Amino acid sequence: MKGICILGSTGSIGVSTLDVVARHPDLYRVVALTANNNLDRLYEQCLRFRPEYVVLRSEAQAEELRERLSAAGSRRIEVLSGAKSLEEVAVLPEVDGVMAAIVGAAGLLPTLAAARAGKMVFLANKEALVMSGQLFMTEVASSGAKLLPIDSEHNAIFQCMPADYHAGQAASSVRRILLTASGGPFLRMPLDELDDVTPDQAVAHPNWVMGRKISVDSATMMNKGLEVIEACLLFNMAPKRVQVVVHRQSVIHSLVDYVDGTVLAQMGSPDMRIPIAHALAWPERFDSGAEPLDLFSVRQLDFEAPDLSRFSCLSLAYEAVRAGGTMPAILNAANEVAVASFLDHKIRFTAIPETIGHCMATISPGAADTIDAVLEADRVARASAEAYVDRLRVQ
Ligand code: NDP
Repeated sequence: MKGICILGSTGSIGVSTLDVVARHPDLYRVVALTANNNLDRLYEQCLRFRPEYVVLRSEAQAEELRERLSAAGSRRIEVLSGAKSLEEVAVLPEVDGVMAAIVGAAGLLPTLAAARAGKMVFLANKEALVMSGQLFMTEVASSGAKLLPIDSEHNAIFQCMPADYHAGQAASSVRRILLTASGGPFLRMPLDELDDVTPDQAVAHPNWVMGRKISVDSATMMNKGLEVIEACLLFNMAPKRVQVVVHRQSVIHSLVDYVDGTVLAQMGSPDMRIPIAHALAWPERFDSGAEPLDLFSVRQLDFEAPDLSRFSCLSLAYEAVRAGGTMPAILNAANEVAVASFLDHKIRFTAIPETIGHCMATISPGAADTIDAVLEADRVARASAEAYVDRLRVQ
């Protein structure tokens, strides 16, 4: 039986992971669960999955959870608090696999700790990889950790790679990676209406149910931009060999184009339990709980090139990965600040790429050769983005 730690268990990926784990109680034991501040959901997860450790952000919330668990007769769960505890539970000896499902830069250090400790790392938290780049891949290679992608596109690519492929290897038989994108909720909206879209409209994704941040990233297509950077790192590819293809139906999750002209695609319903189950069971397979794909109801598969005048975030991401160094960390930090500000009704939707572009144009990237350098770039870009957003604030 494998021990699992779920970083971000109360989020969309965390909940789907627990759904898959619950289908296979003979294979998985939940060792640790973590949340930021969703105390109620974490409490329910404690009662159902009986982890040994849980982590919340603040000590006050941890104390409240201890009292509630004690009142419910559940005294054996150790309740911890603070960012350092996330790293501690990710490296516990009884943990074999870590689901990295915290959103944003907050997931970097615990995910990196899991990689350094040689765990199986199930990577949903793309921002952690985008920020730390080659540093992260080097840690994985030197510790012998196994890195399995959870993002549906990267999981699809991984499945279409040669049988013995491991993340980070160069695959000389591969010509290109074709990364599919749904285009989000604003694919056809007239450009002059984008200025006035609301957070509720932006998070209403046509095909996937996800957390709010990634939903906005899908609407701007920064999600695809982050995924381009993620694909370059995971599959050791130059950016020009990663092509984005808009595919409205979200049935083909990505494709690999081989040098002999063979193109392999992975298909399935848009349900994150499929890549989660693939990664958890790898190299075997087991039931994910997802509905079988019904091709007769899909009927049609469409493909088109992304419109970069509408989705300038995608161009910014290609620019960042080509610039290298700490530029992807700068892009990511500026995006996190801009998206949070948009969700808080402080700036318009169209100010998201503007804020990121401003940070990339005014901050010089350095070498991303230490984690301190990456964290410093993140800090500087956040401060710059906050200041810019303050100037743009919606009246
Ligand atoms: P959610 O917002 O639904 O969940 C995020 C999780 O992280 C929650 O458990 C949240 O806790 C926790 N969290 C947030 N901030 C912090 C913090 N500062 N410290 C510790 N924990 C924190 O996000 P998703 O599940 O949608 O996404 C998670 C990651 O997976 C993202 O990187 C996303 O890009 C990636 N991903 C998501 C997909 C999806 O379908 N949702 C698909 C592919 C990738 P709390 O609940 O207490 O706030």
